[in-house]
Amino acid sequence: MMENKEELARIITAENGKPLKEAQGEIVYSASFLEWFAEEARRIYGDVIPAPAKDRRVLVLKQPVGVAAIITPWNFPSAMITRKVGAALAAGCTVVVKPAEDTPLSALALGELANQAGIPAGVYNVVPCSRQQTAAVGEVLCTDPLVSKISFTGSTATGKILLKHAAGTVKRVSMELGGHAPFIVFDSANVDRAVAGALASKYRNSGQTCVCTNRFLVQKGIHDEFVEKFAKAIEKELHVGNGFDAKTTQGPLINEKAVEKVEKHIKDAVSQGASIVTGGKRHSLGKNFFEPTLLSNVTTKMLCTQEETFGPLAPVIKFETEAEAVAIANAANVGLAGYFYSQDPAQIWRVAEQLEVGMVGVNEGIISSVECPFGGVKESGLGREGSKYGIDEYLEIKYVCLGGL
Ligand code: ADP
Repeated sequence: MMENKEELARIITAENGKPLKEAQGEIVYSASFLEWFAEEARRIYGDVIPAPAKDRRVLVLKQPVGVAAIITPWNFPSAMITRKVGAALAAGCTVVVKPAEDTPLSALALGELANQAGIPAGVYNVVPCSRQQTAAVGEVLCTDPLVSKISFTGSTATGKILLKHAAGTVKRVSMELGGHAPFIVFDSANVDRAVAGALASKYRNSGQTCVCTNRFLVQKGIHDEFVEKFAKAIEKELHVGNGFDAKTTQGPLINEKAVEKVEKHIKDAVSQGASIVTGGKRHSLGKNFFEPTLLSNVTTKMLCTQEETFGPLAPVIKFETEAEAVAIANAANVGLAGYFYSQDPAQIWRVAEQLEVGMVGVNEGIISSVECPFGGVKESGLGREGSKYGIDEYLEIKYVCLGGL
């Protein structure tokens, strides 16, 4: 069936609208987790601990947690599955995957690939379901005593529901929840680099990733130049259209609800004094297409700086001091990714250590990769995925005491 990566990428573009080039990137990213964890499986080391008594020996074994329920979102329909399933299978767990209702096809395509790869029947299971059935299926997966582990990526609101379900049988949980990423540009920054990073971090996947920048904080001295160059880059480099057209960089948003949220954030900001620098409305293509938008004169009172937009909206807040920027960045109940641009080494250390997030990009706008631990603090979640840490989410530690020796 699926003979090459190209076919898998086309499935992603067909089901979630992202440009084919981004979908191709996702397939490489998705495959990287299977490769990485296949290798990590060989390094699930136990331990031998010096015993507290002469006639004892102490061992530590690592064992699979058991059946893992895996609930994934629509924005990376393939990679969000393999980031979890790769680690789970490497640890020795079987999985039941419930993909997002908008994007079940990649999950099913992975099932076909699992068959082709010789994964035994019953190890990788997929339960696609309708929007109406999602809550009920989710509840079964998260309360069934046969399930030992829940790994979820999605909104903080849904994550909290699943945590409550998990409490009844005290399941192990990993939660990758919403973010509200700040992107701080200090006066010392290289503006052109900051603009390139801003464009990538904000508009990848039309702003629909949990690590996409949600608010820009730009220092007074560099503010006007940054806004002007950012607007020019948006107008020149971003092309809204059908994901299958080669020049498209911005596909449609996932559904009408997503478009309404972006509209609501813009309307609220403008009503409180924000200025539209570029974009600002639904795209002339209609349906779920939206213009990449840049707002200036934004304040922390506006909705777009208080909650995740999850769309192509870049609000810019002007600040004066480093302490002010860090305080604004940290005034959130979530903390997934954070970015800042500075060329001052002391400031780089200070700010990297102070930001209350799980991942920091310093002079970089795209930081996710298989080698690096992905995850958040505060209400952005529990646990880490990818990297050498990701496999621990699916392993139990068993201590064995050999006595009477
Ligand atoms: P988003 O807002 O990004 O769509 P959601 O948290 O609603 O985020 O969705 C992420 C995943 O969680 C999807 O697979 C969705 O079907 C699932 N989901 C949504 N609500 C529930 C629920 N009540 N129980 C279980 N899964 C749910």
